[in-house]
Amino acid sequence: MKAVRFHQHGGLDVLRYEDAPEPQLLPGEALVRVRACALNHLDLWERRGLEHVTIPMPHISGSDIAGEVVASAATDVSVGRRVMLQPGVSCGRCPACLSGKDNQCPRYEVLGYMNHAGGYAELVKAPAENLVSIPDDIDFVHAAAFPLTFLTAWHMLMTRAQLKRGEDVLVLAAGSGVGQAAIQVAFLHGARVFATAGTEDKLERARSLGAYEVIHHHKQDVADQIKRLTNRRGVDIVIEHVGEATWAKSVRSLARGGRLVTCGATTGWHGAIDLRALFGKQLSILGSYMGTKGELLRVARFFFAGQVKPVVDCTFPLADAASAQRRLEESGQFGKIVLEV
Ligand SMILES: [Zn+2]
Repeated sequence: MKAVRFHQHGGLDVLRYEDAPEPQLLPGEALVRVRACALNHLDLWERRGLEHVTIPMPHISGSDIAGEVVASAATDVSVGRRVMLQPGVSCGRCPACLSGKDNQCPRYEVLGYMNHAGGYAELVKAPAENLVSIPDDIDFVHAAAFPLTFLTAWHMLMTRAQLKRGEDVLVLAAGSGVGQAAIQVAFLHGARVFATAGTEDKLERARSLGAYEVIHHHKQDVADQIKRLTNRRGVDIVIEHVGEATWAKSVRSLARGGRLVTCGATTGWHGAIDLRALFGKQLSILGSYMGTKGELLRVARFFFAGQVKPVVDCTFPLADAASAQRRLEESGQFGKIVLEV
């Protein structure tokens, strides 16, 4: 099969479109003909190399996958099924898995990362429990753009931050994958959403997804604007995934009893906090990583019913994965960048 692989860490030039061996099925797994695969920041990090992480080489990235089942070593999986894939792979036997918290499994992995080859390829294999059937009116590109970011946004808002109707939510970087998903999930649940972005065009698109007020993060001070827009109160929830560059302003934007949820840090790992604010305002700082398989099935119901829809920025052919990653690196996108295979 054709795949895009890298044999060493580095810049975009290490990505090679080449022949690779087809995945060999183990019992309980299915083989999927990949039709679309969406990009995530994880793809960039693993290509560049991460401290204390050894990725087996050569490696095939790609965690957000949609396609058709072409072979199965699982009993109840029929060939020809149109599916999107749960990005998380877990052991299925530990206390966390058996409690429905599979994203806390000690052996939790993500398709396209570490030991699981991903969707930058014509074929990918996955455990049968990772297959989610998609209706005929959902195209493969949007199906691939859905799982990771909507799962992440759902877990952050609904499970970690326990969003309630009528609360105020600040979503950073509306144009990012998590940003566009979080605006939609929060709006769907009756939140008043504030969103930030770096261009007028992105701010307008954030409004069209349900943002009540928008903040230009290059021209305006986010925390000052939040104070102004909420009559000095602050927001109940901040959806953080930017990290060092925004952390202080995110904390300052919280109301008393506010919750800051973070699922990533694209600008740096270190965030300081004034402990007087933490206890005095009774703040909560919450970490979030992916989400459970059950949560993806739940949020997918809103996708299939047309109540939320992943925003697709643009598509590239698989062979042009380097150009797709360049677009993600340059942060010009609004929504998901998707490879068509
Ligand atoms: Zn487990």
